Amino acid sequence: MLDSLPVIYLDNNATTKVAPSVFEAMTPFLTEYYGNPSSIYAIGADAAKALTQAREQVANLLHCEAKEIIFTSCGTESDNTAIESALRTTRKRHVVTTQVEHSAVRNYCEHLESRNVAVTYIPVNSDGTLEIKEIERAIRADTAIVSIMWANNETGVLFPVEEIAEICKTKGVLFHTDAVQAVGKIPINLQKNKIDFLSLSGHKIHASKGVGALFVRSGVRFSPYLIGGGQEHGKRGGTENVASIVGFGRAAVLAEANLQDEQIRIKALRDRLESGILQSIPCARLNGHPSSRLPNTTHISFEGIEARNILLMLDQHGICCSAGSACTTGSLEPSHVLRAMGISSSLARSAIRFSLGVYNQEHEINRVLDILPKIISQLQETRPQTTVL
Ligand code: PLP
Repeated sequence: MLDSLPVIYLDNNATTKVAPSVFEAMTPFLTEYYGNPSSIYAIGADAAKALTQAREQVANLLHCEAKEIIFTSCGTESDNTAIESALRTTRKRHVVTTQVEHSAVRNYCEHLESRNVAVTYIPVNSDGTLEIKEIERAIRADTAIVSIMWANNETGVLFPVEEIAEICKTKGVLFHTDAVQAVGKIPINLQKNKIDFLSLSGHKIHASKGVGALFVRSGVRFSPYLIGGGQEHGKRGGTENVASIVGFGRAAVLAEANLQDEQIRIKALRDRLESGILQSIPCARLNGHPSSRLPNTTHISFEGIEARNILLMLDQHGICCSAGSACTTGSLEPSHVLRAMGISSSLARSAIRFSLGVYNQEHEINRVLDILPKIISQLQETRPQTTVL
């Protein structure tokens, strides 16, 4: 990257910058109040008090009770824990999920299959949306849990998880949603729905990496998985990552404050970026449903151009975004999400995800709209031509 160029960060679905006030809230718990929250003396008690406050702050964001929040190490741990807990408490051997889940759920389900748990992977439509009746049909007498993401990390497409939770309730099946991408971007009110488990992650909402949470509705049976021990009221062992949890609480307060006006501003910037690209670059194609999606995400294929080459050239201008999901970047395999949507492998390999956040400004979008068409033209000119013999 050229030294003097400021970074234009458009990869907020991969991770986010720690907010300055989050960093400020965390620091005293690394330097001053470093006591173990289980200890009786003052610096331990101060840490315990801060944990209580953070739990309330995260619960406020989700409109649930503080006692329904278990702090974990990440969204992935929360996802794995919810599914495993349902299998253990129900003693049933079938899971329903979708073909487009994040690897946090997908890989775990594949692991479960090797343990002789049956998994049904529901397909999606070409715009990435889901047919609710397919889920209804997939639920069996031995289904332990239905696990469906609230928002897709690649396309941003939203799934009707509240309706699905209702169906699960009437069928007596537990419902988990991976809301790692939805939290902080759309309003979530757990008092108004029947979701049993919900996963979220700190680093997607301007807290630090290495902290997450799992909502477990009061009354839902829970079995701790992986990390047994006394902490988190016996639900997740290990001395609490106090500073990160305190930061997570602070980030939840910021997210709540930003849910209305700020998300409208971000959506306007996203729409400006998207329509600017689609109008100025003839080979650009939008992937995913145009309206039923997160306000910050746009996923666009540039027909005939390798996404990796676009990313490298954008990086030279200080512009950060990603090809498909962060986890598949660097591999030439088309993403499983786009494959499930029936998008051809050449279009899938040319797809770029732009995900905006609270720190993005209009002048940054203008700069991308100035640079990107030039990059695409340059790559089209240098593309090896196929000779027809
Ligand atoms: N679920 C979704 C939808 C995600 O986008 C991610 C991260 O990208 C995760 C789960 C995993 O979260 P974490 O990185 O906190 O483990």
